[in-house]
Amino acid sequence: MPPSTPGRVVVISGPSGAGKTTLMKELFRRSERPLVASVSATTRPPRPTEVNGIDYHFLSHDDFAARRRAGDFLECFEVFGRGHWYGTLWGEVAPSLAAGKWVVLEIDVQGTRSVLVRYPDALTIFVGTESLEELERRLRGRGTESEDSIHRRLEVARRELAASDFYLHHVVNDTLDRAVQELLEILKRG
Ligand code: 5GP
Repeated sequence: MPPSTPGRVVVISGPSGAGKTTLMKELFRRSERPLVASVSATTRPPRPTEVNGIDYHFLSHDDFAARRRAGDFLECFEVFGRGHWYGTLWGEVAPSLAAGKWVVLEIDVQGTRSVLVRYPDALTIFVGTESLEELERRLRGRGTESEDSIHRRLEVARRELAASDFYLHHVVNDTLDRAVQELLEILKRG
């Protein structure tokens, strides 16, 4: 029997450094929607705090390519400026949708375009900062990025922002509380 409340695909994109991770955490804590996170697959190595199967499914290049050939991905791309593959597995999305969940994908702009081909009614949200200068200030403030990495991330952000017109919603992460409130409203309206 189909679920009484149909599931929904929610896509959240935006540059690294815009505070997406913190926002998402709050969203999952506070939203009344039945949210579930899609765990992406990637060929990039895990960072020290990351756990396989929770933060990502960490795959070798060979495994990733084999799963791609097998048609396991809803979308997958070599993410610009990173030199690694990232992708959304059907298995992370389809069963949850069938169970009436709202499946949240944190993916880049090119991935979002592919998802929209399959799910044209996906709720797409682009999270950014007030300006690229503010993004640069935040990236520098972290103190973890090399000059090279800051430039690369800003270049990616510039490109993504320029290509983000098609998102249904643009949220500026100026203050955490306000931005979370706006995201909660967007999800509530659906
Ligand atoms: P990070 O390596 O910092 O975790 O993520 C880098 C970028 O990859 C982010 O911009 C994120 O949105 C994107 N990304 C993560 N998972 C996926 C995915 O499954 N598909 C696509 N297209 N992009 C992804």
